[in-house]
Amino acid sequence: MTISTVGIIGAGTMGNGIAQACAVSGINVVMVDISDAAVEKGLATITGSLDRLIKKEKITEADKAAALARIKGSTRYEDLKPAQMVIEAATENHELKVKILKQLDDMLDSDVIIATNTSSISITQLAAVTKRADKFIGMHFFNPVPMMTLVELILGLQTADTTHARVKDLAERLGKTPITVKNAPGFVVNRILIPMINEAFFVLAEGLATPEDIDAGMKLGCNHPIGPLALADMVGLDVCLAVMEVYLTEFGDSKYRPCPLLREMVAAGRLGRKTGRGVYTY
Ligand code: NAD
Repeated sequence: MTISTVGIIGAGTMGNGIAQACAVSGINVVMVDISDAAVEKGLATITGSLDRLIKKEKITEADKAAALARIKGSTRYEDLKPAQMVIEAATENHELKVKILKQLDDMLDSDVIIATNTSSISITQLAAVTKRADKFIGMHFFNPVPMMTLVELILGLQTADTTHARVKDLAERLGKTPITVKNAPGFVVNRILIPMINEAFFVLAEGLATPEDIDAGMKLGCNHPIGPLALADMVGLDVCLAVMEVYLTEFGDSKYRPCPLLREMVAAGRLGRKTGRGVYTY
C-alpha cells in the first residue's frame, strides 16, 4: 500500500520542513504540535519557504496553493488517524519521545509505520517501547529539509524489510536520496562529521594553525563548502560537545574524547552563532 497521508509530530524546524517536502511532492500531511501557536508558526514558516521558491521560479503560485491545501495543522493526535505513516520530529528528549511513541502506538492502526527523526537516540531502543517494532524505523532528515537531499534510513534490530522498502519508496517520492544504515550512535553522517569537528579543535588547541587557516585548509583541500570550526559555530559548540560525550559513553572508546578546548568554550558560554561568539565572533 502506497503512503498517501503522512502524520508529523512537531511543527518545529524539522517538522515543518518535512511537512513542506511531503506536501510539495503530492503527499497529504497532518502536522501536530502541542499548541496552536506552534502549529501556526510551523505553517507560517512553510508559507515563507514556498514564497522564496516562487521568487526563485522553482514553483508557481498554484503549486504553493496546492501544497498548502495538503497540510492540515492540528493540536489533536486523533487527527492522525488517516495517516499510513507517522514521523515523530518532536523535541530531542528521550522521555518525551517514549511518551509520544507509546501514545501513537496505542492509537494508530497496527499496520501504520512509525518513524523517528531523532539525531541521537537508539532506534532499536525506541522501537522496543512500541508493540510494532517491525514497523518502526529511523528517518533522519537534514536541515533545511526542503533543500537537503539526504535522508538516513536507520534500521533498528527489529525493523522489517517491508518497512524499510516502503519508507525508502516514500523518501524517493520526496525527491530525496536515502542511504541505509544499521542502528548505532551518530548513524553515518554525524558519526564522521562530529569527530572531525572535534579533531579541528585539537589542532586549534595545539596551536598548529589559526582558525582561519584550519577552515581554509579543509575547504580548499577537501572541497568542503565550509570549514569545520565555522561549521561548529553553526551547529552549536554545546551540541558538538554533547554528541562527543554520547559517543564516548556508548562506544567506550577514548578516541571519542571531547577536546578540552571545546569543553572550555562551552563552559564560557561561547556556543557559536547563537550566542554571538564561538570560535569566531559574530
Ligand atoms: P524544534 O525545537 O524546532 O521543534 C520541536 C517541536 O516539537 C516544537 O515545536 C515542540 O513544541 C514540539 N513538541 C514537543 N512536544 C510535543 C508533543 N508531545 N507533541 C507534538 N509536538 C511536540 O526541534 P527540531 O530542530 O525540529 O528537532 C526535532 C527532531 O529532529 C529532534 O529529534 C532532533 O534531534 C531532530 N533533528 C534535528 C535537526 C536540526 O538540525 N534541527 C536535524 C536532524 C534531526
